[in-house]
Amino acid sequence: MQHDDNLTAKLPHFVTHLECAMTGERHEADQIHNLSRAGKPLLVRYDLAGVAKALSKQTLAARPADLWRYRELLPVREAANIVSLGEAMTPIVRAPKLAARLGGGDILVKDEGRLPTGSFKARGLVMAVSMAKALGIKHMAMPTNGNAGAALAAYASHAGIKTTIFCPEDTPEVNVSEIALQGAAVYRVNGLIDDCGKIVGEGKAKVGWFDTSTLKEPYRIEGKKTMGLELAEQLGWQVPDAIFYPTGGGTGLIGMWKAFAELEEIGFIGKKRPRMIAVQASGCAPMVKAYEAGEEHAPRWENAHTIASGIRVPQAIGDFLILRAVRESKGFAIAVDDDAIQAALDEMAREEGLLLCPEGAATYAAYKQSLKDGRVSRGDQVVLFNCASGLKYPLPPIHRTLDRHKPIDYAAL
Ligand SMILES: *Cc1c(COP(=O)(O)O)cnc(C)c1O
Repeated sequence: MQHDDNLTAKLPHFVTHLECAMTGERHEADQIHNLSRAGKPLLVRYDLAGVAKALSKQTLAARPADLWRYRELLPVREAANIVSLGEAMTPIVRAPKLAARLGGGDILVKDEGRLPTGSFKARGLVMAVSMAKALGIKHMAMPTNGNAGAALAAYASHAGIKTTIFCPEDTPEVNVSEIALQGAAVYRVNGLIDDCGKIVGEGKAKVGWFDTSTLKEPYRIEGKKTMGLELAEQLGWQVPDAIFYPTGGGTGLIGMWKAFAELEEIGFIGKKRPRMIAVQASGCAPMVKAYEAGEEHAPRWENAHTIASGIRVPQAIGDFLILRAVRESKGFAIAVDDDAIQAALDEMAREEGLLLCPEGAATYAAYKQSLKDGRVSRGDQVVLFNCASGLKYPLPPIHRTLDRHKPIDYAAL
């Protein structure tokens, strides 16, 4: 892909340090990190006054329409370490027929299925792998429900880094195949994603691989943060009234919340924040349960099941960050069942021609439920995140046939 820097160039750079998301303890940049010394996720901090001086909206507007346009707010220091497969800005697609039918406000779908490997996991993993390259990491391992593993495999192979990936045994076939084709050693494990995570954690000492699990690596959040930067820029440096986000490990929700704070700090947006609405499946809704109980942490959800595999995450290490963003934004957490997800998927595809992934469909189901319950107002402009291409998931078989050797009743077609 095209960059306006040449490859040896230093990028303008403003990272000051990393910070424990729980205790605020400072950790040094430019070193290999997993969790903080307190065992919590690390957040990257920037000299935002410096960014404000270096970056204007006009400068930004003239740059290529990809994720690297926000480089002042990203952790990669040298252009040579950017491991790109073409992270194009994703379009916002309107759903005007459904909006009119529901009598609500604008429905904007941020269609993340257009990214490399067909999901927004590319945003996080392009950053994690670029930083791994910069830090000299040679072998990365990860537990995945499918999409994260595919993105890791693709970027790591592109960078010449070895990968070992573990997924639950019922992970969609297409995900396991793409992971393998993109150069990773991939294993199906008889358990859920956190069981896979345990294997990655234990192998760290035995094999020496780097643990790339959600939020146990500090840079995936920075990549996912670009969803918030991009959204605000695409809406003319405004934020919508509400964001419905399908929440598994929560990287995207936490990242966007961080993005809005940084944008306000550099003077690009004002005080208004979207209500952050965490959408989960009723078969795996630890955040909804904790939200409703007023808790800061969410215990493991037992017997997790849903067709929306990307949000089948029984326990999230960033639970307190998800719940904090939801509460501070005056949003909420909501669960929808698989029947509602399937119905929402069918409706959006049939009426608007948009084939959502089940996780994206969950956000539309949740929006409809929230309108009905009065938790979202009719006039609210809402953004639904479609996080992956609907084509990555098993599709229903269609059996209608036509015999070309017999007379065709065209009127009946
Ligand atoms: C990973 C994933 C999610 C959940 O994203 P988080 O930011 O980790 O909560 C939702 N949908 C799809 C399709 C995913 O792959």
